[in-house]
Amino acid sequence: MQFDLTPEQVAIRDAVRELCRSEFEPHAERWDRQGEVPRAAVDCLAAQGFLGMAIPEEWGGVGYDARTISLVLEEIARVSAALAIMIAVHNSVGALPVFRFGSDAQRRRYLPRLVSHQLAAFSLSEPGAGSDAGAIQSVALRRGDRYVLNGSKNWVTNGLQAGIYLIFARTDKAAGNRGLSAFIVERGAPGVVIGKPEDKMGLRGSDTVALSLEDLEVPAEQRLGEEGQGFSIAMSMLDAGRIGVASQALGVLGAAFDAAARYAQQRVAFGQPLTKIQAIQFKLAEMERRAQCARLLIQRAAWLKDAGRPYSREASMAKLYASEAATWVTHQAVQIHGGYGYVKEYAVERYYRDARVMEIYEGTSEIQRLVIARSLLKDGVRV
Ligand SMILES: Cc1cc2nc3c(=O)[nH]c(=O)nc-3n(C[C@H](O)[C@H](O)[C@H](O)COP(=O)(O)OP(=O)(O)OC[C@H]3O[C@@H](n4cnc5c(N)ncnc54)[C@H](O)[C@@H]3O)c2cc1C
Repeated sequence: MQFDLTPEQVAIRDAVRELCRSEFEPHAERWDRQGEVPRAAVDCLAAQGFLGMAIPEEWGGVGYDARTISLVLEEIARVSAALAIMIAVHNSVGALPVFRFGSDAQRRRYLPRLVSHQLAAFSLSEPGAGSDAGAIQSVALRRGDRYVLNGSKNWVTNGLQAGIYLIFARTDKAAGNRGLSAFIVERGAPGVVIGKPEDKMGLRGSDTVALSLEDLEVPAEQRLGEEGQGFSIAMSMLDAGRIGVASQALGVLGAAFDAAARYAQQRVAFGQPLTKIQAIQFKLAEMERRAQCARLLIQRAAWLKDAGRPYSREASMAKLYASEAATWVTHQAVQIHGGYGYVKEYAVERYYRDARVMEIYEGTSEIQRLVIARSLLKDGVRV
């Protein structure tokens, strides 16, 4: 496993870092306050190819490997976790499945828009089916050359802005997980009713909506993969998505650490800067330890993915560890700021709220532990 970045990865990381500092950082607090990341921010990333990170060049993308995608998402999340999740969802669980499981006709039809300007959304969860995705109730009934979809989906990231939605529905009531299928649904299709955005604790700039499917007709050629393959498509895409969420968590915790370290150098208590106090030094040391552990787990999962080896367990470990590290580090960053950490004037207040959901979406921490345990019990310890 190679720890050093390649010169190309360094160049991409530095370029995206500069872009984020100049174009997004000055506005991230306002996006949170106003509850909206403007379209211009997505367009700015699109212009640099960041909507096609996981798509090969011959299909119009920039064809980055998993490690490079991770670096880009980390940099975006350092300034805006909300923008980072919009881009992460689009790339890992929106555009990538169309490339990976789509027919050539589907690739030709959808990839040009997805790599250039349209966001994608991934709609698996339902009011009664989150961790237990196999409990999905939305149905897709085959009627000749089309399917008719009915049901309720929720928690759809990018749901307000997306150009296409990947929607999972049940094509066979009796077949459990094997009874789910995936469909590509275009924005504006009659029968998709978009709900109002959720009023969230954090990631307030990223929209999250419910979708109501009301006799939504989807041509059979817009089914992604085989009938009954939906669950396995969703799970395999979530593996890639989890490296993305872990990278997002690493970005937020990095920003929180920097803010806390800066503040601790300036703030004087009992006649000395906070950094002279051992209790504060220990907090900073522990933050750095967790950041480095998270980075190593992410690098390993990305390396395995790039090598074409199984990486589901490692992606879960990276997501589990990095998200829990992010909630811990942001918590401590608020603590180091004292009362100032509790007001919106200081960015750590936003980081703390943003980090919390990373232990919840794309599989809760409990579900990551299940994935890791099942993999361990099946395949044993990997060295
Ligand atoms: C901001 C946000 C954005 C999201 N974006 C998307 C999206 O774009 N697309 C999408 O499809 N979904 C999305 N989700 C949904 C998200 O993936 C789910 O919320 C998550 O999977 C948990 O499901 P749930 O909320 O139904 O909780 P539940 O599944 O009801 O879980 C409740 C609690 O029980 C625990 N639990 C459940 N089962 C077990 C078990 N077997 N063992 C141990 N503990 C268990 C859970 O860990 C959790 O602590 C988003 C959610 C949020 C909050």
